[in-house]
Amino acid sequence: MKPDMIMIHYGELSTKGNNRKAFISCLLHNVRVAIKPLGASAVGDRDHIYVHLDGAPCEKVMDRLKDVSGIQRLSIVHKCASDLEEIKVAALDLISQENGAKTFKIDVKRIDKRFPLDSYGVACQVADYILDHSGFGVDLHQPDIRLRITLRPDATYLSCHEELGLGGYPLGIIGKVTMLLSGGIDSPVAAYMLMRRGIRVECLHFASPPYTSLAVIDKLKDILAELNVYQPDIKLQVLPFTKIQEAIYANVPEPYCITIMRRMMVRLAVAMAKKNGALAIATGESIGQVASQTLESISVIEEVTNFPILRPLAVSDKVSIIDTAKKLGTYGISIRPFEDCCTIFKPKNPKTKPRLDECLKAESRFDFEALIAECLENVETIYFSDGKEKIVTKE
Ligand code: ATP
Ligand code: MG
Repeated sequence: MKPDMIMIHYGELSTKGNNRKAFISCLLHNVRVAIKPLGASAVGDRDHIYVHLDGAPCEKVMDRLKDVSGIQRLSIVHKCASDLEEIKVAALDLISQENGAKTFKIDVKRIDKRFPLDSYGVACQVADYILDHSGFGVDLHQPDIRLRITLRPDATYLSCHEELGLGGYPLGIIGKVTMLLSGGIDSPVAAYMLMRRGIRVECLHFASPPYTSLAVIDKLKDILAELNVYQPDIKLQVLPFTKIQEAIYANVPEPYCITIMRRMMVRLAVAMAKKNGALAIATGESIGQVASQTLESISVIEEVTNFPILRPLAVSDKVSIIDTAKKLGTYGISIRPFEDCCTIFKPKNPKTKPRLDECLKAESRFDFEALIAECLENVETIYFSDGKEKIVTKE
C-alpha cells in the first residue's frame, strides 16, 4: 500500500489569531516552492496543508518538508473509500507494513457525520478485524503503532506514521534582516535561527583584501548553498573594508582596534539595512565568547546606532552552536582555515571593558565618515538560489 499524501500540521501557527490567514498562505507558498521540483502539489485549509504526492517519492518529499520552517508535524496518509469493509482491509494492510511492531491503538475522528457508525464503533470494528486476521495485540497506553483514522466526506484517511517538522514560523512572515556573515562557525547558525523564526535573511560580508584571501568568498558561497535549503534565495553583499581597517590600525591605540572596527561594521551594516529595507541587523555574537562580546563591549559598540541589533546566539554555548552547525552542514566549511578581518589584525591585548570616551577620542583622529561613504559606494552583490550563484552586480 503506497502513501497518497502528506498532511502538514501547523502547531505554533494555529495560535496566531487574525494573522492565521497570512501565515497559512505564506507557508503554503513555501511548501509549494519546496516540493515543486519533486512533482508533488499542495492545497491548504484552516487546519492543514495537504501535500498530494501524485507519484512523487514520499521519502524525498518528507525530507524536503522537514526543512521548511513553520511546520510542526508531518503525517503520511493513505486514502481509501469511506466504506467500513475497505477501511478494515486498508488498516490491516497499513499496520502490517510496520516491521517489528506488536501492538496497536486506533483513534478515529468522524468529520463526515453521515458515516453510519460513530467513531467508537469504527474503532472497535477495525480493531476486531485486525485481531482476527493478524498476530497484533491492542495496547491502549503504549502501543507500538498509533493508527489514526479520519472519516472525511471525500475519503477516509489512515495514518500511522508521524514525524516532527522544523517548527518556527513560515519564512518571510516576520520581515527581513541584514545578517553579518563572517565565514566563522557562529554566523551561519545565527542566520539559520532567524530563518527558522520566519525571518528572511540578507547577508553582508566585510572583506579586507589583500589581508584576507578571496578564498573567504568561496567559503561563504558554500555556506550559503547549505543555507539555501532553508531559504531558497539569499542575497550576499560584499563590502570593501580594507581602507577602513588600515585607517583604524594607523590611528587607533591597539587595544581599542577591535572595538572601533566593530563600531564601523555596525555603522556600515545599519546603512545597508536601511537601504535594503531590512528591519534590523543581526550578528553571530555570543555573550562572553571573545573580548568584543563582553556586555561592556556590546554596549559601547551599540552606541553608534539606535537601529535594532539581533543576536540569536547571545546566550547559546559553543557546544550547542557547533552541534547545530554540524546538522546544517556548515561546520566543515566554517572550520576551513582562513583569515578573517578580525583575526588578521588581532591586537595582543584587546580591551574587554572599553570606554566610550576613549572610542570617541580615537574616532576623532581620522575621517571615518568619508571612508564609510566610499565603502558603501563599492558594494558587490551576489544572489544565491538553490545552491547556485546567480547574478553578480556592482552597486
Ligand atoms: P563567527 O563564527 O560567526 O565568525 P566569531 O565567534 O568568530 O563568530 P567574531 O569574529 O568576533 O566572532 O564575530 C562576531 C560576529 O561579527 C560574527 O558572528 C559576525 O556576525 C560578525 N562579523 C565578524 N567578522 C565579520 C566579517 N568579516 N563580515 C561580516 N560579519 C562579520
Ligand atoms: Mg569570526
